[in-house]
Amino acid sequence: MSPVQVIADTDRCIGAGQCVLTAGHLFDQDEDGIVQLLTGAVDTEGDVALARQAEHLCPAAALKIQPVAGYVAGNDATQGQRGA
Ligand code: SF4
Repeated sequence: MSPVQVIADTDRCIGAGQCVLTAGHLFDQDEDGIVQLLTGAVDTEGDVALARQAEHLCPAAALKIQPVAGYVAGNDATQGQRGA
C-alpha cells in the first residue's frame, strides 16, 4: 500500500463534519467546526480507504488525498495528480 498524504483546505471547509463521521481517528473539528487533521500521512489499506471516502463525501471538496512526496514504489491510481 502506497502511503498517501491528507491535505485539508480549511478555507473551503464548511464544517459539515462528514470527515469526522467517516474517520474520527483521522479528522477532528475545531470549536468553529473547521476540519483539523489528526495525521498527515496515511499508510494502512483501511485508513487510505477511509481517507478517500472522506475526500469523496466532503460536500465542500475541502479534502485532497495525494501520494506522499518522494515515495516511488506502488504507483497506484491516485486522483487529481498534477504535474510538478
Ligand atoms: S467533511 Fe469537508 S466540509 Fe465537512 S468538516 Fe470535513 S473537511 Fe470540512
